[in-house]
Amino acid sequence: MDCVFCKIASGEIPSTRVYEDDLCVAFKDLEPQAPVHLLIIPRAHIASVAEITPENSAIVAHIFEVAAKLAKENHLENGWRIVSNVGEDGGQSVKHMHFHLLGGRAMAWPPG
Ligand code: C5P
Repeated sequence: MDCVFCKIASGEIPSTRVYEDDLCVAFKDLEPQAPVHLLIIPRAHIASVAEITPENSAIVAHIFEVAAKLAKENHLENGWRIVSNVGEDGGQSVKHMHFHLLGGRAMAWPPG
């Protein structure tokens, strides 16, 4: 499958990794939108949150545990945001589920 995030997970495409385990990989976003902007992806290809089912939903809880750990490591005590864009209207450009972890500045609401 020609998926850029599968290739990042396998190491075929380089990235600045900040965390990895058997289930997920976290790396720095190439176009950071905040002082801290990490992407957390499952190693297994799941197209988006829209594809989450009772059979594969455990990965989401795991990714959120990793996000909380990474937020602590990056000293985001003042707050942070986790975002997963879904589909065209959601602004999803890479069709492999990923969670943006953003922090280091005050976030606006509503998002654009
Ligand atoms: O939510 P969305 O699909 O738009 O997010 C994809 C993100 O992946 C973007 O923030 C983009 O900068 C990032 N990206 C990356 N490295 C790549 C391809 C995309 O960090 N090789």
